[in-house]
Amino acid sequence: MADGAIVLRGVAKVFRRRGEQTNALAPLDLNIPEGQFVAVIGPSGCGKSTLLRLVAGLLEPDAGTVSVAGQSPLGARQAKWFGLVPQTPALLPWRTVRGNIGLLGELNRGGARARGDSHLVPVEVETLIATVGLQGFESALPHELSGGMQQRVALARAFALGAPVLLMDEPFAALDELTREEMRFLLLSVWDGRGRPAAAGPAEPHRPRTVLFVTHSIEEAVLLADRVLVLSARPGRVVADLPIDLPRPRVAAQADSDEFVHHTRNVRAALRQGAGR
Ligand code: ADP
Repeated sequence: MADGAIVLRGVAKVFRRRGEQTNALAPLDLNIPEGQFVAVIGPSGCGKSTLLRLVAGLLEPDAGTVSVAGQSPLGARQAKWFGLVPQTPALLPWRTVRGNIGLLGELNRGGARARGDSHLVPVEVETLIATVGLQGFESALPHELSGGMQQRVALARAFALGAPVLLMDEPFAALDELTREEMRFLLLSVWDGRGRPAAAGPAEPHRPRTVLFVTHSIEEAVLLADRVLVLSARPGRVVADLPIDLPRPRVAAQADSDEFVHHTRNVRAALRQGAGR
């Protein structure tokens, strides 16, 4: 199955530390089709990051199975199916903007492509730099950039390999409100293929990537996603699975529409229900 579908069946996770047991994730069933943008929201500590790490193959479930494009998360990770955007940009401090964005491509050169991994559609580093608005900063080091600019680099890096699945763990949480809004629309434009600067020539056929996006923000979830999963307090289980049918491309003005407000109200109600309030 050469797609970005993510399927979880009966997945549970328990952490054991110093004789203490934390049930992080209740048995969870989930089916995310290829190309869907899914936002995951829930109270702190309900297992959102755990869910992401299970899908990324960074954790093993205690029960159940996870598959990504029909393979194990570990297999998918080794075959570079994931672009990962963590909470903090985690850039290599000694590499320039260009060097950080191009790093995975350099490591991969002649590797994945030679093995015929057609799921990777690499994007030119220079194109990405232009898309995320970092022209003129190509040779800057991370410490010379603002937090927002660093997160732009992290976003570009996640897109560089053209991996079909993007896993994002509150990537904009540490940014100020204006930068955060800018980054949301930037993400959407890169995701749906509109984010190509004119200089990059005609757009290639675009295959939307599957996105699993963890957030604390109700507005962010509704603005970005095709579907919002609301998790309960720990151990996380899905209390609501809400389709967001707002037209795309999404624009800032939509946030004032009745439909938008209706969706945010539904997410808020489900969050309250999941928190037992
Ligand atoms: P969220 O992302 O929703 O805030 P997490 O997935 O990070 O929640 O964590 C879920 C629960 O599991 C929390 O109670 C957290 O303290 C616990 N937890 C997460 N990782 C570990 C770990 N490596 N060892 C022990 N407990 C952990």
